Amino acid sequence: MNYAAIKTLDIANGPGIRTSVFVSGCTRHCKECFQPQTWDFDYGEPFTQEVIDRILDSLEPKHVAGLTVLGGEPFEPRNQEAVADLLRQARRRFPNKSFWAFTGYTIEELDSDTAQEILSYLDVLVDGPFEIDKKDLTLRFRGSRNQRLIDLKKTKQAGTLILWDDGYRRGGVYENS
Ligand code: SF4
Repeated sequence: MNYAAIKTLDIANGPGIRTSVFVSGCTRHCKECFQPQTWDFDYGEPFTQEVIDRILDSLEPKHVAGLTVLGGEPFEPRNQEAVADLLRQARRRFPNKSFWAFTGYTIEELDSDTAQEILSYLDVLVDGPFEIDKKDLTLRFRGSRNQRLIDLKKTKQAGTLILWDDGYRRGGVYENS
């Protein structure tokens, strides 16, 4: 797998300060995708163990809330092994940090063993393709209304799909605080 970019101190792709890893390669080609350069599997740089070590080190400070994996498409079949490897190592070293991933697939489509392993390391999955006719700039951490922020831990416990909610409401107010 190649990766397109690694952003540290990212506040746009999940709650708190995070390290975000943009992987290369996506065959979904959503209309008006916000970064079509990442569709190419050869875009960017090789995703080596040295890169993984750098990502893990960036998660070490207390003020870093967690890791987000997005793309490109982390769940492209040919990207899944490398993404699983990253998250396996990250979860082992940081059992209590929050891990998110964004995918153009729906969770129901992620049925391979490796996809299931990736899901087992995640706290939240933002799923579904970007759909331009459902675009909504007021949405938090997603671009179109069909996309869902799925709380994977609560979903597993409940046996039914539970959406992520940290109590934040429009206007910057936290309802649960
Ligand atoms: S799944 Fe994501 S990266 Fe792929 S085309 Fe759609 S918006 Fe772009």
